[in-house]
Amino acid sequence: MTERERIISLAGDELSGRARAFAAEARKAELSRLLSLPELSEARTRLGYVYSCLDNIEIGKKVSARVAGTAGERYADVFAMRRDALLAEKERLEALTEKLEAENKAPEARKYYCPLCLDKGYLEDGAGNARRCRCFNEILSGFILEASGIPEGRFEPEPPEKGIYSPVADKARYGSEESPEKTAVAAYRAAMDFVSDRSPSSKTKMFITGRVGVGKTHLACCMATAAARQCLFVRYGSISVILDAIQNRIFNSDEERETYENRREYIENCDLLIIDDLGVENVTERRFENLITLLDKRTDSGRKTVITSNLGLREIKEVYGERLASRFIDLKNSVNVRLLGDDIRLMRIGSDRS
Ligand SMILES: [Zn+2]
Repeated sequence: MTERERIISLAGDELSGRARAFAAEARKAELSRLLSLPELSEARTRLGYVYSCLDNIEIGKKVSARVAGTAGERYADVFAMRRDALLAEKERLEALTEKLEAENKAPEARKYYCPLCLDKGYLEDGAGNARRCRCFNEILSGFILEASGIPEGRFEPEPPEKGIYSPVADKARYGSEESPEKTAVAAYRAAMDFVSDRSPSSKTKMFITGRVGVGKTHLACCMATAAARQCLFVRYGSISVILDAIQNRIFNSDEERETYENRREYIENCDLLIIDDLGVENVTERRFENLITLLDKRTDSGRKTVITSNLGLREIKEVYGERLASRFIDLKNSVNVRLLGDDIRLMRIGSDRS
């Protein structure tokens, strides 16, 4: 089972679980509604005995003492009635139950967790094409995010809050004519466009650079959330985690091999791959080759990859050489944004203290 199939099957199990729990709740509610109507239940029982007595009279039999005994003292008067009295009682009780039922009509019971697809998880159009229902996608996106590997935290895809980035441009300090705030808002928009663009000509690589602490990882994780909400399969990992996962190695067991292969397959084929913090690791020649192969494979198949780095493009060229740098300078196929500013993490700690 591939990682993608595993995630989809988790979502399927979750939906059936919710549907079962919902049905059980609905049954319980109906039962307790009926139990809370003693008058109606009493009238129905009494009517039942009236019917038996009348049936027996019809076929010329007497109701056995055993039945009367089980019914108890409470209904003894019914068993003592003659035909005329029984008929009158029948009429009275039928009218009474009808009235009580009308008064206590059950609210239109919702039998399904999802009234749209009736808990099937998919909808069919007239032509017999099935597509996943909203209920299933909602559950699926949760599992995709859970399996994505993003760190703990709140990564709502929302533009940066006021006050996080400086609204003042300072070329000497940040090396740009634009303010950090303006740059961050533009980077956020570019990131969301990158995730949601499914046009055939859409760009497949995004490169987020900026100094330590300017919010690159945060932005990348918001992209992961936005992608998962669209049910795009997304995988996040630091550069060393990703490189470890795609490096050839020797296995101690078949199980280990399978886990490795599934993980690697997902990294190669997921819809959005996020490689965080290029530039902090020691990359050997071999591992570096693997990275280029991975990038090219994903680009060729139209799959999107995001890389964050505290190095600028020029530094990437110096550290990793022309070959990797050229993967990003290719503007036809890549979106490059640079976040500016001071270390947000330090600023946040500062404001927590004040
Ligand atoms: Zn549904």
